[in-house]
Amino acid sequence: MPKVTAIVATHSRHNFTRKPNLADVTVAGHDMLRLVNRRILLSIVSDRQPISRAEIAKISGLNKATISTITGELLKDACVIEEGLGRTTPIGGKPPTPLRLNSKRFGLFGLDIRADETILALSDFNNRIVSRVSFETESVATSFLSKIGKEIRKLQLKHDSFIEFPGIGVSLPGLVDNQSGKFLLSVVLPWRDVPVVNLLEKATNLPVIIDNSARCSALAEIWHGKAQYAHVRNLLYVSVSTGLACGVVIDGGLYRGGNNTAGQFGHIPIDLSGPECRCGQRGCWDLYASDKATLKRYADLRGPGGKRVSTMRKLVELVESGDASATEAVRETARYLGIGITGLVNGLDPEIVVIGGEITKIWGVIEAIIVEETKRNLLAPRSHHIAIRPSAFEVRPSLKGALTLIQNSLLSVPHMG
Ligand SMILES: [Zn+2]
Repeated sequence: MPKVTAIVATHSRHNFTRKPNLADVTVAGHDMLRLVNRRILLSIVSDRQPISRAEIAKISGLNKATISTITGELLKDACVIEEGLGRTTPIGGKPPTPLRLNSKRFGLFGLDIRADETILALSDFNNRIVSRVSFETESVATSFLSKIGKEIRKLQLKHDSFIEFPGIGVSLPGLVDNQSGKFLLSVVLPWRDVPVVNLLEKATNLPVIIDNSARCSALAEIWHGKAQYAHVRNLLYVSVSTGLACGVVIDGGLYRGGNNTAGQFGHIPIDLSGPECRCGQRGCWDLYASDKATLKRYADLRGPGGKRVSTMRKLVELVESGDASATEAVRETARYLGIGITGLVNGLDPEIVVIGGEITKIWGVIEAIIVEETKRNLLAPRSHHIAIRPSAFEVRPSLKGALTLIQNSLLSVPHMG
């Protein structure tokens, strides 16, 4: 009897469901396997550094010879460095030489474009920001991006100790088409159909990756979130800003959808007889739980001739100073956040929900209300297990996300099939 390989992986604890992509086949050839293993090892070093080859073997399950080959390549490419070389043990033996990422191997650019302010940052391979410049965002995209391009070239010259600049990650405040590299539209910025990738690549000669701010922030949480959820694979990010948008991470990867517009849960109606939304529907979630909604609620509570505030930052300060109307306005927003999150948790079953935005600065005021409201209508049996947390990044999660777009391109594991 010839020996046959079982094609039904009944022995595996993984129940695979991913259909191979026959329109764009990627087979698991030798080069692809090498790339996957190399990235897994780099990720292990990044997460656990300094780490010995023996520990890497334990975590990865790869044999020592394979690890020796791959780490040899990574050392040769200057992606990792050996720590403590030249030391000897008290008995004269060869000391273990743990590995670290070489922080100078890559200089990563992140560009966080918001309606009012744009921040350009350069970080090393260990995610330490080495330079940060801010600009007032301009209404004409072409001249503004040309100015940013010049600044990037200046930073490249100034930080010439980096071996390579692998690209620029860009976070944008609105709808983005990753395929065409265009920023489509936004309610907060008067840019329309701007070929951001093309303009920045021409200006800098570096590869550019773009995404919207909620999805960038979700990516930052899954790669660099708090230690307490370091091993989470499924995450929902709710970005509470002028508008309401979400980022969804499924099994460690960002979900972009069929037309690259996934995550616009802010336009799910929660009240069909509610006010008309700019999207054409009535009673969208965005109209009740965004910063714009909270500011309007505060104005309504104060009545005609009452105090007005124009930014969420100022409203948060009022809550911190004990202003009753401001507190009531954000408590009501928290209730609506909970109502929307319940539906998403029932539909997506994330392990964690992360909320980002100015409103999370008063987490103590809103947390209990969001959690209580979310739990109220959750489908059993998970009603007691939902984790809802504020973003790990108090300052500009989307900037961290823009940088993560490039880091993700260096460390993520490609899909096969
Ligand atoms: Zn809408």
